[in-house]
Amino acid sequence: MDAILKSLEKSGGRKILPKSKRPSQAEAEDAVRTLLKWMGEDIEREGLLDTPARVAKAYGELFAGYDEDPQDVLGRTFEEVGGYDDMVLVKDISFHSHCEHHMVPIIGKAHVAYLPDGKVLGLSKIARTVEIFARRLQTQENMTAQIAHAIDEVLQPRGVAVMIEAEHMCMAMRGIRKQGSTTTTTCFTGEFRNQPNEQVNFMTLLRFRKD
Ligand SMILES: [Zn+2]
Repeated sequence: MDAILKSLEKSGGRKILPKSKRPSQAEAEDAVRTLLKWMGEDIEREGLLDTPARVAKAYGELFAGYDEDPQDVLGRTFEEVGGYDDMVLVKDISFHSHCEHHMVPIIGKAHVAYLPDGKVLGLSKIARTVEIFARRLQTQENMTAQIAHAIDEVLQPRGVAVMIEAEHMCMAMRGIRKQGSTTTTTCFTGEFRNQPNEQVNFMTLLRFRKD
């Protein structure tokens, strides 16, 4: 158990509070009641009676990524490539995350590629890695880098490329209310970082879209 906590604590370069140090479910529900009252709600009205429990449960799902370690998902066993050494690209991985500044949704797509060095990942593992980092409070920049570095560390390919395109609801719903604008971030490691032609290949493959 200690080993699990230890690796989780540094998962994605961030400290994660061990479960034993977290508030109880009842305390989380009380915190929701406090926010409702602060907003001006009557927490005794029927429609809101179960809301604190529902919100705590929803948060448990939306932020389940704190209790999962991408290193476990990516695993330590890989498939042999059988001579394949060209780019592997998984594109249009949909995700929902929440910005760490406002705890408001970030909705987007991740595109992840790597250049194998003798071994490849099961394709579903890449989508699961995106999911784990999405289910934490995020900045888009950090999430992009965390996905790239997690794959880089575990698989040790010749290079990893990650592009994320996302809409930030904190921009669409509050503040400057810019609707429909997307933010693009990229992170390149290894040959994707050092060899511009590999970046061009990645961008070119991304452009072959059906939409
Ligand atoms: Zn925000």
